Amino acid sequence: MIEAFDYAGSPARIVFGAGAIARTAEMIEALGCGRALVLATPHQEADAEALADRLGPLAAGVFAEAAMHTPVAVSERALEAMRTAGADSTIALGGGSTTGLGKAIAYRLDTPQIAIPTTYAGSEVTPILGQTEDGVKTTLTSPRVLPEIVIYDPELTLGLPPGMTVTSALNAVAHAAEALYARDRNPVSSLMAAEGVRAFVEALPTLAEAPRDLPARTQALYGAWLCGTVLGTVGMALHHKLCHTLGGSFDLPHAQTHAIVLPHAVAYNEAAAPDLLAPIAQALRAERAGAGLHAFATRIGAPTALRDLGLAEADLDRAADLATRNPYWNPRPVTREGVRALLDAAWRGDPPNA
Ligand code: NAD
Repeated sequence: MIEAFDYAGSPARIVFGAGAIARTAEMIEALGCGRALVLATPHQEADAEALADRLGPLAAGVFAEAAMHTPVAVSERALEAMRTAGADSTIALGGGSTTGLGKAIAYRLDTPQIAIPTTYAGSEVTPILGQTEDGVKTTLTSPRVLPEIVIYDPELTLGLPPGMTVTSALNAVAHAAEALYARDRNPVSSLMAAEGVRAFVEALPTLAEAPRDLPARTQALYGAWLCGTVLGTVGMALHHKLCHTLGGSFDLPHAQTHAIVLPHAVAYNEAAAPDLLAPIAQALRAERAGAGLHAFATRIGAPTALRDLGLAEADLDRAADLATRNPYWNPRPVTREGVRALLDAAWRGDPPNA
C-alpha cells in the first residue's frame, strides 16, 4: 500500500555527462552572471586555474583555500576575495570541502553557485552546510546554500585515487541506506536511493580494478547524484549521527568513517526494517544488507576497522555516550548498549552483529 507522503523535488538544474565541464560558460550565463570566482582546495588549484583560463572574462579569479569542514576563517577570506575580484557568482570545483566553501559564500552573499563535484560526497545537491569555528562544528539547512546548477562530468573523476573512490562511494551509499528507512521517505526518494545503490554496486568492482574506466566512472557519478539528492530531501538517522560524533569529537576522516560504520549501522537497523533495506540486499545479491555491505567493502578494498583510523579502544565508551546522549528518531530504538556493541565490531573490523 502507498502510504501518505510529502514530496518536494530539488529545484537544482543538473547537467550530466562526459565533457560537461565545457558547458560551464553557458551555465554562468544561464544564471545571469558574468564574473565567477572559481573555488578549489590547494590540491586542485591547477585544475581551477585551467578552468578559469578556459572561461576567460567570465572568471573573476581563483580562490584555492577550501578545507575540510568549512572553517569560518577560510570563508571570510573567500568573501574578501569575492569583493576584491568583483565576483557575482561562484564555481566550486572539487569534493565536499570545496562545495562547502561555495555554500558558505552563498549563505552570506546569496550569490548564485555552480558546483562541479569531483568526488561522490553528494553535498552539491543538498541545502545543508556544516561549518567549523573554534573547533566546534555546526550544521544549518537553508535553501540559499543549495547550488543552482550542478555539472557532473565523470571525466573529472578519472584521477580520483582508488582509496578515496571506494570510501567516497560508500559515503554516498550511506545516504541512500538511511533514505530507504527515513521516517519522511517518499516513493521518489526510495526509488532514487535504490537506484543509487545499484549504480555503485555495479561500478565499484570495475573501478577497484580499473580506476580510469569511463563507463564505470559515469555509473558511479550517476549514483552519487542520486544518493546526494536523497541526503538533501529526507532525514538521516543512526549512521549519520554516529559518523558526525566520530568525526567531530575524535577527528576521524569523513569518508573513511562512513565507509567503516555503514555495514554496522545498516545491520543494526535491519533488525527493525528488513523490508525497507531489501533493495540493498538485492543489489548486492546478499541475504542481508548489513552483512552484504561488509563483504562488499572488503571485496573492493575499503577500510573496515575504526582502529585503523587511529581511534583508541579506550575511546569507545565515550563515543557511545556521546552518540546516545541526545535522543533522535531511528527505525530501531538507539540504546547505549546497542551502540557500544556496534562500535566494538566496527572498531575491530568484524562483520556486523546480526
Ligand atoms: P574533500 O572535498 O575534502 O576532498 C579530499 C581531497 O581530495 C582534497 O584534497 C581534494 O582536493 C581531493 N580531491 C577531490 N576530488 C579529487 C579528484 N577527482 N582527484 C584527485 N583529488 C581529488 O572530500 P569529500 O569526501 O568529497 O568531502 C568531505 C567534506 O564534505 C566534509 O567536510 C563533509 O562534512 C562534507 N560533506 C557535506 C555534505 C553536505 O550535504 N553538507 C555532504 C557530504 C559531505
